[in-house]
Amino acid sequence: MSASDAAGTSPGAGARAPRRDPSCLFCRIVAGELSSTKVAEDDLAIAIRDIAPRAPTHILVLPRDHVPSAADLTDADAPLVGRLFALAAEIARSEGIADGGYRIVTNVGTWGGQTVDHLHFHLMGGRAFDWPPG
Ligand code: AMP
Ligand code: ZN
Repeated sequence: MSASDAAGTSPGAGARAPRRDPSCLFCRIVAGELSSTKVAEDDLAIAIRDIAPRAPTHILVLPRDHVPSAADLTDADAPLVGRLFALAAEIARSEGIADGGYRIVTNVGTWGGQTVDHLHFHLMGGRAFDWPPG
């Protein structure tokens, strides 16, 4: 196995190359080019602490692959979306916010408040949240 295979940057038999946008902030975090505080990771997803937390616990759960937003998901992404939510729930338990309840949200586009065009779910907890959000 080559070094690039080990790093997951080279597709093996039956695998495909990871989707990556070299100008994307979160793709660069996934690649380790920018630092982050990683909370969890697996083969499909990583979770990092938000750099500007808006709640006592504020974690971003994102796919390793570059998917611009929830608007770009298709039926083929069902396993990925399941994994992202399962990972968020697992982190909520390990962060101690599961019992009190928490919020998982993803912003889409300008009016949705999206500022980083790489799909991510905000996992927020540790306080009560208003509804509807502002
Ligand atoms: P959104 O505005 O929904 O696209 O969410 C983007 C989130 O990424 C915001 O909550 C930012 O605070 C957060 N963010 C931006 N840059 C970084 C970074 N380098 N590391 C961690 N979180 C970041
Ligand atoms: Zn990206």
